[in-house]
Formats: sequence, C-alpha cells, structure tokens
Amino acid sequence: MIGLEIHCQLTKLDSKLFCSCKADYRSFEPNTNICPVCMGIPGTLPRLNKKAVEKATMIAMALNCKTPEKLGFFRKNYFYPDLPKNFQITQLNLYGPTSIGQEGKIAIDDKDIRIRRIQLEEDPGRLIYEGASERTAITLVDYNRAGTPLVEIVTEPDFENPRHVRIFLNVLSDLLENLGVSDPTLEGAMRADANVSVEGGNRVEVKNIGSFHDLEKAIHFELTRQNSLKERGIEIAQETRHWDDKRKITVSSRSKEEDEDYRYILEGDIPWVAMDENSLARWKQNMPESISSKKERYVSKYGIASQVADVLSSDKYYSDLFEQAHNTSNAKEIANIITTDLMGLIDTREKREQSKLTPSHLTELVSAISAGKITKSSAKNALQEIVKTGKSVSDIISSTGMAKISDESELAKIIDEVMTLEPNAVVQAKENPQTINYLVGKIMQKTKGKADPTTTLNLLKKKIGI
Ligand SMILES: [Zn+2]
Repeated sequence: MIGLEIHCQLTKLDSKLFCSCKADYRSFEPNTNICPVCMGIPGTLPRLNKKAVEKATMIAMALNCKTPEKLGFFRKNYFYPDLPKNFQITQLNLYGPTSIGQEGKIAIDDKDIRIRRIQLEEDPGRLIYEGASERTAITLVDYNRAGTPLVEIVTEPDFENPRHVRIFLNVLSDLLENLGVSDPTLEGAMRADANVSVEGGNRVEVKNIGSFHDLEKAIHFELTRQNSLKERGIEIAQETRHWDDKRKITVSSRSKEEDEDYRYILEGDIPWVAMDENSLARWKQNMPESISSKKERYVSKYGIASQVADVLSSDKYYSDLFEQAHNTSNAKEIANIITTDLMGLIDTREKREQSKLTPSHLTELVSAISAGKITKSSAKNALQEIVKTGKSVSDIISSTGMAKISDESELAKIIDEVMTLEPNAVVQAKENPQTINYLVGKIMQKTKGKADPTTTLNLLKKKIGI
C-alpha cells in the first residue's frame, strides 16, 4: 500500500501566511525577506492571510473535500535550525474537523484516490549544505522561505504502484496550476513524501525526495526491500527512511516520530476562524473552470479531437492561449497548431518566459492560412519566427518570402524542373498513382513548403496524365 503526503506552496499569493513579507521569496538575497513575525521574535503576533485561506479552500473544493465550520491552528513543536520559532504553525483535527479540508477524493485511472485531509501551514526556512565532502560540509540557513504558505495534502494508502503515483502527481500538479494557486514548475513548490507498506508489514515513511522522478524510484526501491525482508521472515520495522539521492536507495534515519512527540498545542495567538457560508459560496463561484469541464467543452463545442483536447486543457499556459485566441470558426485549427507545432517550440519554463508570442498572433496566423496567404508548412516556420521576434504574421510573410505559391504558371515551372530531375518517379506515378506523393514532396522541398498543395497536386496529375 502506498500513501502520499504532498506539500504544495501557494506561490501565487502576495504575502506570507502570518506576516506581510513576500510569499515569492526566491528573488531575494538570503535572509532579507524576513520580519520579526516570521522570525518568531518574542512579543510579535501572527495575523492570518485571508487570501491563503481562500486559495487553500479552493484546493480542498477541487479535490472534493468537506470544508470545516471553523478553522483551528496548532503549534507543532520541534527544534531544528530552519525553524526560528521552534514550532511550526499548522493544523490538526484534535477537536473535530478544523483543518482546511477532509474526506475528499479524485479519480485517477478509473480508481478513486481518497484524500484524508488538507491542512494550511507555514513552510520552514531552507538549509543549504555547502562544502565538497561530508567532513568539510557546513550548513547555511536562509529564512526567506520561513512562514510562506504551504498546503499539505494527505492521501489514504490507495495507490497500487509507483506508476499510479506518478499519474496522480501529474494530475494534481495540473489541477493546482489550473486553479491559479501555485506554479508547480518552480523548484521546491511541490514536494512529496511517501508511506509504503507491504502486506503484513509495518508502515515505512520515506522522506527527503527531491523530485517526482526520484519519488517513483524511492517507492520502487522500498517495495522491493520490504518484500525481500518479508520473504526472508525478517520483521519490517516501522521507521522513517531518507532517500539517498546519490546511491538511489533509502536509508534508515530515525525511529518514526508520533504525534505525541510534537507536543501539539492550540495556537492561542490565532483565534478560531469561522468559515461563513457566503464566503465559501463566493469562492466556489470564483473557481476557474476545471480541466475536465474544459476538455468536455473543447470536444462538444468545437469538435476538437479528444486527445488534442486532453493535452490542451491540462496545461494552463496553452489553454489560456487558446481561450484568448480562438473563436467558433477557428478553434479547431488553433488547437491543432498549439498542440502539434507550438508545444514543441516552447517546451520549457525559460522558453515560455522568453516567448514573444501573443494570442492575437495565433488568430492572425490561422486567418492567413485560411485566406490562402501561407501554407500550413510555412506557418510552422512563421511560428518559430513569431516566438523569437514577436513580429506580426503579415510582416513575416512579406519580409521572409513565405507567401504561398498558388500562381499556376510559377508552379508549372517548378513542377517541370522536378519532373526532369525525377524521370523514374514520373514513370512509377503513371503506373501507380499513389506514388505521386513522392513528387509532391520533392516540389514542397524545392519551394520550402510554400507551394499550394491542392494546386500542385492538380497540375502534377494533369502533366503526368493521370
Ligand atoms: Zn515576515
């Protein structure tokens, strides 16, 4: 059985969870995005970020969780250098359900994954290990991250294998991005620990996993290790193990800490927060359209192929582009250009940030194709130019000579040239008309994709006599 604990930063918020320092801590010099509140200076008081409650509630709603009547916050006490207060403000369902969400579920691969609970808490600071070897290593601490809003999502042990986990994490990361609450591509914005157990064995918690790719490996390693112990009749200890990134194995770190070890107490500096029905209803209404509803709309309203709609709807960047570029008549064509050509051109975060393409470029490009000004094949080259320079489609067509060749006399000349160069292919096409595509391909090559495909084919057939 495999269960997950996922930590997700609410990266789209302006400020930290209990003070007005920036939630976007990544652009600061170490230890400059801090204040007495997030540093836990005695006498300071935390103030709950209302927007964080709203965004976290949206996550709970999107995962079909129940929302509580009131929110409660607790101090989780532990002593560690990344935690300046020596306690983390988090949530615990000690006096009934008071964390931001519980008992949700989401279908993955036709199987429901149950969500046990979701809680809102603060992220600790970051420890940075410097030095070449274990012996000379020093540890630096950066508190810029301390107090940034974090949502913890705990699932029931419903996953059957590492692949199942990976699909879930991809769906979850698309969902969070679509909600506009988090940018999962940022380093450390989404982290996951796993609980792994085999039948008849104790539960083992695996922590310190740097990436989703490694998470899959870590779960795989743990399943193999536990099954091997079981086969040899050795008891599987209940413990926490750390993922060793270099050796790609899990290593026993300490015996598992239980809730009692954290000496949870109610956070007296933050009163209970009543969740009023009006706010909940408004937040629900303000939630962006879900990925599955978008997909359904793309298929039923525009006749976009299901697979294309799937790819398009699950990526917020591309579906936003689509939403702004399309109208009823060009939707299908725009969806195809985005999924077949554009996704290959802008496939990383950096390329997205550098891209000069706007939604109106796409609209313009599709109009140029349907007006016969440019072929689909040249459109692909034009797209490359747009992403790089941001020039308008008409400028690109006129300045780079990408205009479609549909003039019959001009095309006839090119066709004659190709036929002279390929006498065997001409003979073959006469015998077997299907092989004519070879000659069409040659003409396209010669014109760099600018020849109008229909005119070319008709002229060629006439000349060959088929
Ligand atoms: Zn602060």
